[in-house]
Order: sequence, then structure tokens, then C-alpha cells
Amino acid sequence: EPSRFQGKTAIVTGAGSGIGRATAVKLAKQGANVALFDLVDERTHEAEVELNGIREGCAKSYDVDTSDPKRVEQAVKEAAEAFGGIDIVFANAGINGVLSPIDELELEDWQKTLQVNLDGTFLTIKHTVPYLKKRGKGSIIITSSVNGTRVFTGFGMIAYSTTKAGQVAFAKMAALELAQFQIRVNVICPGAISTNIGQSTKVKGHVDEITIPIEYPEGGQPLQHGSGEPEDVADLVAFLASDESRHITGAQIFIDGAESLL
Ligand code: NAD
Repeated sequence: EPSRFQGKTAIVTGAGSGIGRATAVKLAKQGANVALFDLVDERTHEAEVELNGIREGCAKSYDVDTSDPKRVEQAVKEAAEAFGGIDIVFANAGINGVLSPIDELELEDWQKTLQVNLDGTFLTIKHTVPYLKKRGKGSIIITSSVNGTRVFTGFGMIAYSTTKAGQVAFAKMAALELAQFQIRVNVICPGAISTNIGQSTKVKGHVDEITIPIEYPEGGQPLQHGSGEPEDVADLVAFLASDESRHITGAQIFIDGAESLL
């Protein structure tokens, strides 16, 4: 419904593509103003144009590397000033990074994945929480992955999986700490979703020589309908952003066709 988020402002990171973009569109269609945070990228400006086509003036894009402390602080301030506060934070930007066997993974590649996925999540939330506190309530949603708790979803994803598990712990601790301010924090764990994440994935070393004794059903998960769509995830995020989920915080929610049960 177009008034679900009327008068609310959301910050969405990784808003130029995939899950972030589909969520930004959904929130805008349901009445929110949306600050689109992503790397300098044509796609982010396209997203801004798309959202402003839904409702003129509802979206602004910001060139932000979420792992850059100064830039995140500054862009959050600009967005809060432009829209008059912040109500919803979707900390979603992430990369697969370099896929490699453990003994072939370079420290700098390991660190890059940690910087984007963990520092980026921390910085996004650190700098938006003061604005949510000012509002007296808020909703934060973090995108982790089925990789955050299960053993295997892909070859060579040791750094990625470490960050995704870290995001789950982060969300639960933050939910406890921030509950007294009526700020809810939930973490979503998608299985395979059709997005552009492959573009941020590099393979180094003998990844294809890693063998794992798991057989996947056709279709990738028990529901067997193939990958999920970004819009499937956007529906969940919109629910968690809305007051319909007012009694849900600290929850880890899988959206994976039960892939995580395999
Ligand atoms: P995507 O690549 O389509 O979109 C991610 C966006 O994040 C891109 O626009 C990219 O430019 C942006 N981004 C990357 N690094 C950034 C940085 N340092 N600062 C700001 N923006 C940055 O991928 P997606 O699948 O939509 O990924 C979104 C989230 O979903 C990620 O956290 C990812 O780990 C998670 N996820 C994806 C899947 C999947 O199968 N696609 C499954 C589980 C979890």
C-alpha cells in the first residue's frame, strides 16, 4: 500500500543493484524517502532516476564506499539533513570477494572482504544509530547469508562466510543494546538470489579442487524452484522495516527455500 512508509526515510546500502535496489524500489513504492548508498556506479544513478519516477523527490543517491569511515559519516549526515531524519537502515552492501582455498588466500584479499562486509556494516549502523535514537525508534536490517551459519554454500568462501557469521552476532548484540531505544535490529540470511554479485567475485587458486561431500537437489534447495529473486527479499525487508514487525528484534530470518536445512 502506498502509505505504508509515508513520512519515513530509509538508508539502503548496496542500493545500485540486486537485493538493495529491489528493496529501495519497494520502499519508495510504499511511500518512503530513500537514500541510496553505493559505490560510484551508473547503476546507482539509474536507481535514483527509477525511484524518482515512482515519486518525484523521494530518492537521492550518494557515492559511498561503506568501508570508508569518513565518507559514511558524512553521507549519513547529508542524507539525514536532506530528508529530515532517518527511520530505517538496510545495511546490505556486500561482496563475495576473492574465492580461494585457505592456504592460498592472500591476507589482503581476506581483509578486503572483512572491510566491506563487516566494517561496512558496523560503520553504517554506528553513524545512523544517533539519528534513530533521536527519532525514539527505528528499524535496522542487516543482510547476512545462509553462509553465516551453515557449512557449505560455495567453494572457497572462507572469508565471506566469516563475515556473514559476524553479521549475525553483530545483529543480535545490537538488538539487545538498542532495544531500550525502541530500535529493532534483525538479520536476514538469503540463499542463492539472482543478482549481480558474481561481478564482485574473483577466483584465485585451486578452488575447483575443493571437494565437499554434499549433494544439492535439483533447483538448489528443497523447494526446488531455483534461485530466489531480489523482490522476494525486498518483501521480507519491507516487513521488517514496518511496524507490522514491531515485536520482532534480534531475529535471524532465513529466506532460502530451506537451503540452510541441507
Ligand atoms: P549485487 O552485487 O547485485 O549488489 C550489491 C551492491 O553493493 C552493488 O551495487 C555494489 O556496488 C555494492 N557494493 C559493494 N561494495 C560496496 C561498498 N564497499 N560500498 C558501497 N556499496 C558497495 O549483490 P546482492 O546479491 O544484491 O548483494 C547484496 C547483499 O546480499 C550482500 O551483502 C550479499 O552478501 C548478500 N547475499 C547475496 C546472496 C545472493 O545469492 N545474491 C545470497 C546471500 C546473501
